[in-house]
Amino acid sequence: MTKYSHSRIGIYENCPLQYRFKYIDRVEAPFEENDSTFLGSMCHETLERLYKDKVGGKTDTREEVLEYFDRRWKEEYDPDAILHSGDDRTGDYYRRLGLGWIGRYYDDFFVGDRMEILGIETDDVLDLPDGNQYYIRIDKLGYLDGTYYVCDYKTDSRAKDQSVADADRQLAMYALWVKRTFPDAERVRLLWQMLRFTGDRAQVVSERTAEQLEDLEKAVVDTIAEIEGTTEFLPSDTAYCDYCVYKGMCPRFAPPKVLDLEDTTVLVDEYVRNNAGIRTLEQRNDEIKKELSAVLSGSGCDLVSGTEKDLSASVNRQVVYSDREAVERIVEEKGLTARYSSFNIRSVSNDVLKGTADPEIMALARITEGYTFRERKKKQRKEEE
Ligand code: SF4
Repeated sequence: MTKYSHSRIGIYENCPLQYRFKYIDRVEAPFEENDSTFLGSMCHETLERLYKDKVGGKTDTREEVLEYFDRRWKEEYDPDAILHSGDDRTGDYYRRLGLGWIGRYYDDFFVGDRMEILGIETDDVLDLPDGNQYYIRIDKLGYLDGTYYVCDYKTDSRAKDQSVADADRQLAMYALWVKRTFPDAERVRLLWQMLRFTGDRAQVVSERTAEQLEDLEKAVVDTIAEIEGTTEFLPSDTAYCDYCVYKGMCPRFAPPKVLDLEDTTVLVDEYVRNNAGIRTLEQRNDEIKKELSAVLSGSGCDLVSGTEKDLSASVNRQVVYSDREAVERIVEEKGLTARYSSFNIRSVSNDVLKGTADPEIMALARITEGYTFRERKKKQRKEEE
């Protein structure tokens, strides 16, 4: 008998090799967490504490909750023990992000929450028909007006939309456990609260029929049978490799095997020489574009005459930020992620160019202007004249 969890099955589905490292070979990972998972853990711990205090008869103030998050972060965050994704975001960036989320959660969800709390970070199991068990870890199990609520806090960068929520396995399996544990649980609603998002995208609700839950249980048992029958745990082509704590030992990222023959060396040398020549010419063209832009600017012209060809010139404007991380933080803290579909610097820049971006972002932005050049045949110009 093995205890399976949503994340254990998810790791297999994401990358069988990662599953093998973690659950079969039990390789000790050099890192337990990455910045994002650490942030998620701190948010969960803080909300766990908030609701445990409430169950104990103490309603924490917003300041107390934020102080708790801040203190625990500073106690636990060890930059040397955490895998960083390779971008230049600092631990302090994630800490401030978390403070913004917790404050918003307190205002939007905690204040006015009338649910009776039946469980916080549950530690239970659902017995499966194949003899295995499914781990039940519900962030918050609540009861209100005849309905049970399975609540999950999400810190993902993508908002869960309705179709994804309706197909979600984790909370549906928890609903099955609720129905089997509480005989009066006729109605169980699944509720995801997304800490990163605001407005309509901050919460999504779903429900399952009894038949859907039975089908889901069978599907889970089938997936477990597949896992237990697998002998070859291959690495996947996954977008999560940068966050994988086993990346350092993964064969996909092992040093390359080198081909070193006389013939191929000659070809490689020629290829490298050609590329260097292309780069030199491209650099010179960049300088020419700058010189032409300087002459064109303010002239009102949009075509520059050459001997055999002309160059048509169109103005393009770009946004340069003095502190891109600060822009991202403002978007997160001011709840603008819905407007910019998570954090999308191009959408932010479009608003800067239109002058409709948040004033704090405008203050960090500088608009540069240049020209884009295209070759045109002489003949084409004469026909147009
Ligand atoms: S680095 Fe990528 S391919 Fe390798 S084990 Fe991790 S997730 Fe799998």
